[in-house]
Amino acid sequence: MKGFEYLQNQLDDMKEEGTFRHLIPLESAQGARVTIKGKNVIQLSSNNYLGLTSHPRMKKAAEEAIADYGVGTGSVRTIAGTLKMHEDYEERLAEFKHTEAALVFQSGFTTNQGVLSSILTDQDVVISDELNHASIIDGIRLTKAGRRIYKHVDMASLEEALKETQNYRKRLVVTDGVFSMDGNIAPLPEIVELAEKYDALIMVDDAHASGVLGENGRGTVNHFGLDGRVHIQVGTLSKAIGVLGGYVASTQSLKDYLIHKGRPFLFSTSHPPAVTAACNASLDVLLEEPELIDKLWENTKFFKKGLQDLGFDIGISETPITPVMIGDDALTHKFSDQLFKEGVFAQGIAFPTVQKGKARVRTIVTAEHSKQDLQEALEAFERAGKQLNILK
Ligand SMILES: *Cc1c(COP(=O)(O)O)cnc(C)c1O
Repeated sequence: MKGFEYLQNQLDDMKEEGTFRHLIPLESAQGARVTIKGKNVIQLSSNNYLGLTSHPRMKKAAEEAIADYGVGTGSVRTIAGTLKMHEDYEERLAEFKHTEAALVFQSGFTTNQGVLSSILTDQDVVISDELNHASIIDGIRLTKAGRRIYKHVDMASLEEALKETQNYRKRLVVTDGVFSMDGNIAPLPEIVELAEKYDALIMVDDAHASGVLGENGRGTVNHFGLDGRVHIQVGTLSKAIGVLGGYVASTQSLKDYLIHKGRPFLFSTSHPPAVTAACNASLDVLLEEPELIDKLWENTKFFKKGLQDLGFDIGISETPITPVMIGDDALTHKFSDQLFKEGVFAQGIAFPTVQKGKARVRTIVTAEHSKQDLQEALEAFERAGKQLNILK
């Protein structure tokens, strides 16, 4: 069909530059080991931190919900698509997060869009870390609010932005709780102190911290003992929680406001029963099986130390997200391909997702990996690293 030549030209350019990507389908369930191109490999690229994508309790809850309530809801939340189970789950989630209320959106991405686009006007300003997630950036694009970007985790730069914006009605400081490419944790105690000093609101996106940091996986706010001092916690139910969705944990007034003004909430159909039931069961898992989080951290420490002992540069990571810094884009993709031949699936991440010269193979271990899996993975990293002269 004629019409899309202008797009195809750009795709051809990407192929020439080596930045064109194919999707890589899994031929098995997500897990510590997966089948890709007919080959059984160790999975080090998922966000399935606790292995909950196939937790038996959650699968059973989903199956029962389908049997009792069907596969869909047939409406948006605000018309006819709120099931009692949606509200029950939100109540339990708020209690878990130690907040007054919680509201679930279709995904973490739409949560950021819905919150940022609705609570700010041209009288307000949003102050955002330069490495915040794309969904925060897009949410900000949807507001008429002023914008200030501060240097990554740089508190002097944040304070400067706070000083410069004192004439606005409301200031909202927004940060990822854990940064997804480097695995570092936002300096929340300092951010909270500055925001309180300058009377600004704070929003933390805990997509990579929910289920990972804090007591029973309550997130970065709880991890730092800052319960009650962060106005808005958002997060995803699609990473460590293993299902799908996003949430806002905050006050009842913000929840009520978002029910009226959060556009993805208003104009996109609610979660199917299986999704909500599985998310609800994940709370039981987080509360009753904290050993999963212990295992995640034990595996994280083991794998990080193994990579460092081999001589790899793992950057500034403090969490299970462990980048293996390579630098060159092409070499990074080659390294990832070589790892696959050696039995490990670990995706290369290059420009434009990260800065030029900062390409890396990004790994995330999970609670599901055995010591044997991780030992084998380290041996594969050693062989591939030596073959490509990344290791001496
Ligand atoms: C993954 C991610 C999201 C998006 O969450 P989804 O539920 O996958 O849409 C939002 N924010 C951050 C920081 C993320 O890492």
